[in-house]
Amino acid sequence: MLAGTPEAAEKLKEYYRIMLAKKLEDLAAKEVPRNMLQEQQFEMKFETYTEQVMQYHEELSKIVALSVVPPEVHETANQVEQINALLKWFKHDFFTWTNQPKCQRCGADNNMESLGHVEPTADDREHGASRVEGYKCRDCQVVTRFPRYNSALKLMETRTGRCGEWANAFTQLCIALGHTARLVLDWTDHVWTEVWIEEYQRWVHCDSCEPLFDQPLTYEQGWGKQLTYTIAFSNQELVDTTRRYVIDPVLNKMRRD
Ligand SMILES: [Zn+2]
Repeated sequence: MLAGTPEAAEKLKEYYRIMLAKKLEDLAAKEVPRNMLQEQQFEMKFETYTEQVMQYHEELSKIVALSVVPPEVHETANQVEQINALLKWFKHDFFTWTNQPKCQRCGADNNMESLGHVEPTADDREHGASRVEGYKCRDCQVVTRFPRYNSALKLMETRTGRCGEWANAFTQLCIALGHTARLVLDWTDHVWTEVWIEEYQRWVHCDSCEPLFDQPLTYEQGWGKQLTYTIAFSNQELVDTTRRYVIDPVLNKMRRD
């Protein structure tokens, strides 16, 4: 079993290197100058998400995740019903959205001034929050910190964030419940989950923020997004899933170049 091992992480990196090499080859063939910044962003995202998907298989993470799931999700008749019940509960009862945190002193959430990124503490780093946002309350001048946790285990406790935290916690819950699930990263800045549905014999799009089940064209059709890459991360492999999410593959290819 490769799950969560350094060997598995190495294997993932190998997939990634192949994907990156292929992309650079494409660019070179078209005589497009190499964009170092874009390359570094690819590299950074890859590192972050690889670590994230590895932790879903750690025993403690799975046990804690299972412990928060309510009976109405456990007591469903089949896999499709369970995922839908999980999506509904997760969105309406479990997780909350945070654009800006509430002031830790007066509780106000509408009078906060962003200070950008502030220094993470050792505790933040321990839970995968290398990025910490700071907000100063205009009323009481107190600074409230918003650590962006990557640890799914920690998210079972904090239960809040933006789409990154939502998708991270939701994917962890799917895996804890015994489903085969993976994290899908959209390079135009969104994250969601895919679950392998036995009955359909295919990967199914699940967006816990909305929530949405099996509506992969929502982003381009509904939100008017122009997707470039969507990459699925699991503890086994890295897969380019873009085709499932785009209306027109030809236009998508042009956007990538
Ligand atoms: Zn305040």
